[in-house]
Amino acid sequence: MIQADYHLHTSFSSDSNSSMESMILHGISLGLKTICFTEHHDIDYPDNPEHLDFLVDLPAYKQQLFLLKEKYQNQIEINFGIELGLMPSTLSKCHDFAESEAFDFIIGSTHIVNHLDPYDSIYFETYPSKKGLKRYFEDILNNVSSYKDYSVYGHLDYAARYINDEHFQFHYKDFGDLLDTILKQIIYDGNGIEVNTGGWKYGMSDPNPHHEILQRYLELGGEILTLGSDGHCPEHMAYDFQRLPEYLTSLGVKYYTVYRNQTPEFIKL
Ligand SMILES: [Zn+2]
Ligand SMILES: [Zn+2]
Repeated sequence: MIQADYHLHTSFSSDSNSSMESMILHGISLGLKTICFTEHHDIDYPDNPEHLDFLVDLPAYKQQLFLLKEKYQNQIEINFGIELGLMPSTLSKCHDFAESEAFDFIIGSTHIVNHLDPYDSIYFETYPSKKGLKRYFEDILNNVSSYKDYSVYGHLDYAARYINDEHFQFHYKDFGDLLDTILKQIIYDGNGIEVNTGGWKYGMSDPNPHHEILQRYLELGGEILTLGSDGHCPEHMAYDFQRLPEYLTSLGVKYYTVYRNQTPEFIKL
């Protein structure tokens, strides 16, 4: 059984209403041994109808986390993480933010491309399927080329979740040069990627990223792989984790990774 969920949000993220304690208690009931909260922090997230700013109240988040970490220390290990929204225009601010705190774990994620979130239908209306996904990967390449302060890159093909085109099928070769360059850069920098079971939750055939991306990452020598549900409420914690051992083993994965103090540790599947 996978005992670590390394991608979790609580009410310290703009798009979650779940208390941290409710998540911890549910994690304990699921038998998780280690969890890492990774609250959203997206500097300069564009204005949106719900006026969500996706900025974490860091002092309040820290205070609550360290209080509960101590309270539940004999039942579950709780780590201090962040999911940093990366955009080419905010990388230096992200660098300052990442350096300012002793996070155990940092997910670097692309949520916004050219002021649009692929989650909003206007994104793929503006850039149809393949073009929109290519545009998404181009921004990731831009980010990983100059930004290094992250542990893993989050949901590498997040945008693909929102492609609403029955004729679209993902093929690695359609983005091969771009993805190869991204993956090589991540590996060269000593960072990793995550397997995000949100993909299954969104009804995709694979978790994010697509298995061809994961396979190529392994082929290129990538070893660091964290597992996360991207749960924003207790019911979505460790989402479909029971499917992961067989899925990952079939792709040749032998270990997954946890982080403490930004140092990776490998756990046998
Ligand atoms: Zn995300
Ligand atoms: Zn997330």
